[in-house]
Amino acid sequence: MDLSLTPEQEAFGATVRAWLKKSMPREWKATGSSEIPRAEQYELLRRWQRSLFDAGFIGLTWPKEYGGGGLTFMEELILQQEMALAKAPPILNVLGVGMAGPTIIAWGTEEQKKRYPPKILSCEEIWCQGYSEPNAGSDLASLQTRAVQDGEHWVINGQKVWTSFAHVSEYMMLLARTDPNVPKHKGITYFLLDMKLPGVTVKPLRQLTGEAEFNEVFFDNVRVHETQVLGSVNNGWAVGLTTLMYERLTLGFGLQVRLRIALDGLIDLARRMEKSGRALTKEPVMRQKLAQLWIDTECLKYTGARAITKLLRGEMPGPEASTGKMAWVDTHQRLQELAMEIEGPYSQLWKGSEWAVEGGVWPQSFLRSRANSIEGGTTEIQKNIIAERLLGLPKD
Ligand SMILES: Cc1cc2nc3c(=O)[nH]c(=O)nc-3n(C[C@H](O)[C@H](O)[C@H](O)COP(=O)(O)OP(=O)(O)OC[C@H]3O[C@@H](n4cnc5c(N)ncnc54)[C@H](O)[C@@H]3O)c2cc1C
Repeated sequence: MDLSLTPEQEAFGATVRAWLKKSMPREWKATGSSEIPRAEQYELLRRWQRSLFDAGFIGLTWPKEYGGGGLTFMEELILQQEMALAKAPPILNVLGVGMAGPTIIAWGTEEQKKRYPPKILSCEEIWCQGYSEPNAGSDLASLQTRAVQDGEHWVINGQKVWTSFAHVSEYMMLLARTDPNVPKHKGITYFLLDMKLPGVTVKPLRQLTGEAEFNEVFFDNVRVHETQVLGSVNNGWAVGLTTLMYERLTLGFGLQVRLRIALDGLIDLARRMEKSGRALTKEPVMRQKLAQLWIDTECLKYTGARAITKLLRGEMPGPEASTGKMAWVDTHQRLQELAMEIEGPYSQLWKGSEWAVEGGVWPQSFLRSRANSIEGGTTEIQKNIIAERLLGLPKD
């Protein structure tokens, strides 16, 4: 693709830069964490997303009539680059903006498209993704949560697990089985579920990091109106795949911005940490490792740009999004491992310890990064997708 900017795009970049300079929240301190927002940051990030919305710097590629900017992915790329350079905070409604909004715009009725996307962008309504179940993760089509029609409603019973943000969400992208008598991919429906409906129970699960950012969600005779079906009944597999493609695109492309912020933080850390009285950045092997991470981060940016070429042609993200997701996981986990090497014995110290480096953010983001090769589809599953759907190899 041609990445040279038109004068209008240069001017757009300058506007974003100037806005970021004056609008960054004073209390925000960029750290090595390139992760999902932590609980103590929720309020700040909610306000931050709101100010991005008010300034028109979110949902750039979404149609104007649904609250977006009506611009192209080139402007989105420029915005993301400026955010990385300014070390701007992430948004709070990550799954809403990255996945729910684009899926609703792709499959929704006119009423659904007018109702949901603007509130996703403004962060008035946070979304979570109700796909995984105790017996359906990689093999998602085996999901057992049932929806049975009763007049104008569907009655939902079952359980989801690992549901990130369910504890703060207003809505869920829910996959449920509506026809158990057809091949398993064909009997699934996609619902836009109001989390406040009677019968929905959210129970937090604590992770390796000590945070409880994901949950179990139980459905006990939850009555969902038929207008909350997205796409059509028993077409949930196709609708759900759209969400997954956008998820991998967001992870591969969107998170490379946060990767760049983390890498800059890591280089600063290496400059300040010493070995035998010398800054670690003077060590040849350390320099090579840092340079390799920088190269891989740049490569990821261009892999993302390749995916964007497809979007600029008006196509939806396809199986190639898996390569970006996989490359992001590999680079980010290596980056966090290197942070532990740089901190040496200090990497054992957690937040709260007066000797912890940078308040203990690196050990925490290192532990969180272990989940990267599981969330959004495991690395093994991404490899299967690449093998079968991109390389045309025989089926697993
Ligand atoms: C931090 C985090 C956040 C998450 N957030 C959400 C969320 O918001 N919403 C949601 O719905 N889910 C979420 N998940 C769940 C995630 O999508 C699943 O954990 C993931 O898809 C794997 O499913 P599973 O855990 O059931 O593992 P399994 O599918 O049981 O896999 C176990 C192991 O077997 C391997 N395996 C399975 N099948 C194959 C195969 N065909 N070929 C080769 N290897 C295979 C897997 O790679 C894995 O190593 C989250 C997970 C994490 C860790």
